[in-house]
Amino acid sequence: MSDKTFDPSRRNLLRAGIATAVAVPFARLALDGSAHAQDLPKLALDDPQAKALQYVHDASKAGDARQEGADCANCQLYQGGADSEWGKCSIFPGKLVNAQGWCTAWAPKAG
Ligand code: SF4
Repeated sequence: MSDKTFDPSRRNLLRAGIATAVAVPFARLALDGSAHAQDLPKLALDDPQAKALQYVHDASKAGDARQEGADCANCQLYQGGADSEWGKCSIFPGKLVNAQGWCTAWAPKAG
């Protein structure tokens, strides 16, 4: 005969263990993400994809395709902080783009 009742303290311990097991990988991802951003190389202007999308580090030097005032800092795809000079961009994974840069994939930030 077995006792089917489950000790509440064991249940809480199990819940805490599951929560920790789920949270740790996300915390590690968040930490890794910030650490990697500092270590990433700046996007080179001669990068083939950068050239294809007419990327420039200084939006004021972009061609006629650029909308007035458009730059990486106000682009939906820019992942840098509000006051960061360089940040990640989902179009150029593994590279940093300049907050004052621009490319033809620019899309206005929502909100
Ligand atoms: S997609 Fe946006 S953030 Fe990325 S390089 Fe182009 S303008 Fe800058």
